[in-house]
Amino acid sequence: MAFTWSDIQRNRLWELDAEDSEISMAFDSVGDRDRVYQKLESKLIKAHRKRLRFFREETRRPTHCILEDTLVSTLVKNDFSQVSTPIIMAKGLLSRMGINETHPLSSQVFWVDSKKCLRPMLAPHLYFVLKDLLRLFEKPVRIFEIGPCFRKETQGGRHANEFTMLNITEFGLPEEQRHDRLMELISIVTKAAGIKNYKIEAETSEVYGETIDVVSTEGDIELASGAMGPHPLDQAWKITDTWVGVGFGIERLLMVRENSRNLARMGRSLTYLDGVRLNI
Ligand code: ATP
Ligand code: MG
Repeated sequence: MAFTWSDIQRNRLWELDAEDSEISMAFDSVGDRDRVYQKLESKLIKAHRKRLRFFREETRRPTHCILEDTLVSTLVKNDFSQVSTPIIMAKGLLSRMGINETHPLSSQVFWVDSKKCLRPMLAPHLYFVLKDLLRLFEKPVRIFEIGPCFRKETQGGRHANEFTMLNITEFGLPEEQRHDRLMELISIVTKAAGIKNYKIEAETSEVYGETIDVVSTEGDIELASGAMGPHPLDQAWKITDTWVGVGFGIERLLMVRENSRNLARMGRSLTYLDGVRLNI
């Protein structure tokens, strides 16, 4: 009979970001298993301590903060302007995205009160400022925002209730250039984030209808979703321009780049500091 890890051991190995091959090990006896566990746990703890030392002595900043800065400066260099909108969002703006009580995303929204929520996405606020910027700026209008978004998720290795989204949009470009431009924007971000292998998949989104997904070929993880306009949702803001837009999850980019199975390590955390479990 083969013995696998106890639940406590498996959880601990997961917390310490053990390899898949280590998590799926099997043993001839409980004694063998526990001996291997001791060695494996101390090897992983040693690696975490080494990484914490590197953090303290060299980088002194969490990797996700560094990545955010890199993406901001890359996009600014590419003629995109950063906007910074509130984290609290009006219910009315969500309904303009077609997200009302019956919409699937609605059950994922964190409500602050009956009229306000923590933003589950950046798009409604970007639309809000764009309706004026399209009048005030020359075309093409290129803006982006990067910041926290919130969704009630049944916790898993790829979802957090609080995560960081990067949303890029370009308005007023020739219609026939939209596809190539969207691919170009995806390539600018993935390159800056150090992601080498990804594929583009056609998808149907609850909010935008037909969309494209950027999916990492290592582990089949969705990194981003993109869409093009004019789109029926634009009418709510009286916007008629052509556009492309794409939203990336910062923690997903890091998870893939660092080859980790645990998204919780990659973002804001009380348990991890720059991906290092603090209870070591
Ligand atoms: P998924 O299908 O993986 O749940 P989604 O399609 O619902 O994601 P989008 O609305 O397309 O997510 O959001 C854009 C990007 O934000 C996603 O591609 C992903 O990288 C990231 N993202 C979305 N939800 C979460 C979450 N709960 N935790 C971490 N990242 C997320
Ligand atoms: Mg998506």
